[in-house]
Amino acid sequence: MSPNSKTDQNSTITEETLDPENWETVRDLAHEIIDDSLSYTRDVRERPVWQQMPKDTQAAFETPLPKSPTSLKKIYKSITKNVLPFPMGNIHPRFWMWYMGSSNFTGALGDFLAAIIGSNLGGGNHSAAHIDNQVINWFKEMIGFPPEASGSLVSGGSMANLLGLTVARNTMASVAGVDLREHGLAALKKPMRYYTSDQVHSCHQLALETLGLGNSSLRRISTNDDLTIDIEALNKAIQEDREAGFQPACVIATAGTVNTGAIDDLQKISALCHAEGLWFHVDGCIGALIAIAPNNKDRVAGIEKADSIAMDPHKWLHTPFEVGCVLIKSEQKHLKTFSLTPEYLEMTKRGIAAARWLHDFGLQTSRGFRALKVWMSLQEHGVEKFGRLIDQNIAQGQYLNDLIKQETDLELIAPTNINIVCYRYNPGGLNHDKLKEINIEIMLRLQEEGSAALSDTTVHGAHCLRVAITNHRTRQSDLDFLVDETLRIGTEILDKGLNK
Ligand SMILES: *Cc1c(COP(=O)(O)O)cnc(C)c1O
Repeated sequence: MSPNSKTDQNSTITEETLDPENWETVRDLAHEIIDDSLSYTRDVRERPVWQQMPKDTQAAFETPLPKSPTSLKKIYKSITKNVLPFPMGNIHPRFWMWYMGSSNFTGALGDFLAAIIGSNLGGGNHSAAHIDNQVINWFKEMIGFPPEASGSLVSGGSMANLLGLTVARNTMASVAGVDLREHGLAALKKPMRYYTSDQVHSCHQLALETLGLGNSSLRRISTNDDLTIDIEALNKAIQEDREAGFQPACVIATAGTVNTGAIDDLQKISALCHAEGLWFHVDGCIGALIAIAPNNKDRVAGIEKADSIAMDPHKWLHTPFEVGCVLIKSEQKHLKTFSLTPEYLEMTKRGIAAARWLHDFGLQTSRGFRALKVWMSLQEHGVEKFGRLIDQNIAQGQYLNDLIKQETDLELIAPTNINIVCYRYNPGGLNHDKLKEINIEIMLRLQEEGSAALSDTTVHGAHCLRVAITNHRTRQSDLDFLVDETLRIGTEILDKGLNK
């Protein structure tokens, strides 16, 4: 008799489960949720980008720990009332803040199905593990990495960079004759140094702090007018450090900086790393995927020469959060850094444990099936369409750049390289602090009016508004609107002052 057919006739104990008591009621509600979700996605343009949540809505999130049940219907009702109307806004066509993707419905279905299947990507012999491997193989192909390279899907770019920089650290320690896993940092005879530009993403400082090397081991090299790393200064810093008794270990090139989208000269950095015996890591969270964009792929030529790459499908592939990917050229170095098999996870010849453990490629043991959402949308649209969408955003960046140039009261603050435009309202005759105050007010009014979401930053000392167009829903007319609104609000502030 199979255990499934056993009857409970004589059972005297009550055993509970989380499954629905009435599957049909839940089925109806689940259909309703899917229907609403489709409309929510379809109609996103009709809603404000963002809106301030009223105080009484906030109170809905301060209720005490629930001890007794609430019906799913009631829970969903509170979601439609208190949650859905108050998103961050990044799926909206006029969200250009910071740097993130705008999601997609198929990806959302992927997340749902991944949870339904429920497989753990710590590893094992099952379909999800095959898809995880396949997606990593697809990423290698997109970037031009060889099939024998390895990789891992992680929560995002910060984790992908951390893993890449960890493999760099351990490998370079072993070049210096130190087994870092066994003996730790104290065994290093010379302190290590990593090099990157002054435009580096903050996650690298955190990574080096976490790796025990410390913030001072990350040398920020000055940048040229186009915000790419100054290669001569980089070379000089490496020589200086060698003479001063440090071990130069790794160069972190950025393919698409957060501030302005600048792409370091990957060919030159690769040659320098090769000549100096340094690890070549590329932070490609923004720009690695330009490798699939037909009109722009030359911008990242040389990326395939990297020893490790961090990339971020939840940005330019618009995968719902979370998914990042680290690729390591040498599988052996990758495994040497992370592989560890305790006695309770030994592989078997047959059955569920008859496959390489995927936790050997990173720091997580249990891991979600984040590959599915990528796998589904890549198949649905084909990689060529994703490439065209990247070209489209870069063309939109140039379009906005040109619009701004035509307006005497608007000023470009940095050259527009790809899809990031840095500008400010500047009617003339105002000092830097006053301009900063006015531009921050423009940014906040755009957000509060729900019309557009921009961020701000400071580039080589000048404060500016920053528009990052990583958005498959943005149209040119949205950018026309942005320019008109910046001028309208700027003039209004000049006329009536900062207080509304
Ligand atoms: C976004 C970004 C990161 C961090 O990625 P997360 O997915 O937010 O963790 C790192 N580097 C660059 C250049 C980025 O743009």
